[in-house]
Amino acid sequence: MKILIFGASGQLGLELSKILQGDLIKVYNSNEIKDGYKLDLTNFSMVEDFILKKKPDIIINTAAITDVDKCENEKDIAYKVNSEVVKHIVRAARVIEAYFIQISTDYVFDGQKGLYKEEDLPNPINYYGLTKLLGDTYALSYDDSLVIRTSGIFRNKGFPIYVYKTLKENKEVNAFKGYYSPISARKLAEAINEIIQYRKTGIINIAGERTSRYELALKIKEKYNLDGIIKEVDNVKNWIAKRPFDSSLDISKAKKSLSIDFYSLDENLNYM
Ligand code: NDP
Repeated sequence: MKILIFGASGQLGLELSKILQGDLIKVYNSNEIKDGYKLDLTNFSMVEDFILKKKPDIIINTAAITDVDKCENEKDIAYKVNSEVVKHIVRAARVIEAYFIQISTDYVFDGQKGLYKEEDLPNPINYYGLTKLLGDTYALSYDDSLVIRTSGIFRNKGFPIYVYKTLKENKEVNAFKGYYSPISARKLAEAINEIIQYRKTGIINIAGERTSRYELALKIKEKYNLDGIIKEVDNVKNWIAKRPFDSSLDISKAKKSLSIDFYSLDENLNYM
């Protein structure tokens, strides 16, 4: 089984590369990885050619501009990487009849309701969310595709890592009041490894348990016995883009489909 991973140098891509079995074709852009292929996804014709030449059975697109504030400031590149390239991936996937998995985000929602189900209506409030939603739409225009919506991925970056490092230095953590459904890149990769076998299509939420950043920070403080202060804040200084208040995802569909515990906060915090 040939599996092509776009974004193999990212948090999720690195974990998928460890876990997935088969002949892996790993693509990076600026952060070189061993045995990887360098390919800039904004070069659409090269992306299509690459897929047609490599003929993977499965394509997983984890690549994105994930810096929400950068997306707000650099709309052109955000649109190309998060939206437009998906159209070209799908075009090539159709020709070679590859199964396609697109990784999406809780930020397609406005955050007014929380615990969003797969069929809830997206309403992004920042450019990152909008570009990712367009990416979903391109992905879903192809019958043999699965859009996985997830939330707060962490591995070498993400809120839990910031909390751990800041408390370790005995400094103050600013914890945004809002809620989300954080998941470690490792558990998400394990869940994807299982879901691939069922070749599901449509949309599925795969994320962790709903938590506020404040509760999460307290948990990390306790788990690692750290000093330092945690302050709950309405807004984080320096944020440019708006953030949804409660972007948590309803994961009941994935819980029914998957045999592994991908969601427990305690389990996820073992993979920081
Ligand atoms: P990372 O930010 O860790 O990695 C992003 C990846 O995209 C890197 O491999 C990067 O390559 C690649 N990439 C960016 N621009 C280009 C480009 N022009 N050409 C080729 N590759 C490019 O992302 P995560 O692993 O954290 O996220 C994975 C997916 O999950 C993304 O689709 C994201 O939208 C989604 N998601 C992420 C969340 C999070 O909290 N991080 C939450 C919800 C969803 P390189 O580094 O080599 O340049």
